[in-house]
Amino acid sequence: MSNLELKDHTTLLDSIRNKLTNCSKNNIIFYCNSCGEAYSIPLRCDLILCEKCGYRRFLKLRKKFLPILKTQQNIKLLTLTWVKGSENKGDILLRHRQTRRLIKEYFDGGIYTFEGLAQHVHCLVVGRYVPTSIISNKWKKITKTSKIVDIRKANLNGLNYILKYVCKPPTRLMSEFVKYYNFWFHNRRVSTVGIFYNYHQVKIKIELLCSKCGDALTFYCISESVYDYPLCKPLF
Ligand SMILES: [Zn+2]
Ligand SMILES: [Zn+2]
Repeated sequence: MSNLELKDHTTLLDSIRNKLTNCSKNNIIFYCNSCGEAYSIPLRCDLILCEKCGYRRFLKLRKKFLPILKTQQNIKLLTLTWVKGSENKGDILLRHRQTRRLIKEYFDGGIYTFEGLAQHVHCLVVGRYVPTSIISNKWKKITKTSKIVDIRKANLNGLNYILKYVCKPPTRLMSEFVKYYNFWFHNRRVSTVGIFYNYHQVKIKIELLCSKCGDALTFYCISESVYDYPLCKPLF
């Protein structure tokens, strides 16, 4: 590793550590012109390595997918495995395609999440029972190298199970922060197929309104600590 690479590496690690340490510490302060009420929104880091942001991501994804899962009966938990984790982040697109191909072949749709460096993908699929041997042979045909699959009956709790892989920090070792950050930067770890595809994609326009009088809020400042503005109410 050259000195320049080493420097970049250290700088990125510093920046990640900084973001994690300061997550939710700063706040954007708004106020209402009409009644004077003040509100705050924490500035979150949204890093995959952040426990707090991961938990929020979990609640958000759960709320999004639970309603459609509740209308389904034949829920199965399907785990697909590659021979090893991916060494190149460019491989992720291929692994997405391979996963989608297998799900589309036998099921009406599914939600899937990658684990770690994408050696495993955990899928919640909907459809009739398919014997493991059939899925395994197909997986071997698709990947050329691996036939390791697992399928079992599941229920709504399966959603919590698969979501934990995208919500819990993938590592707690600081020496691995940069690797995971770079690997998943601009790569999707959760996706949907078939009946789950594009479900609930209607974007909700968020309007910043005063909960007391309903008037629009005005930006005031970014505060280093919400304690500077103790009377602020959290906006979300
Ligand atoms: Zn107001
Ligand atoms: Zn965070």
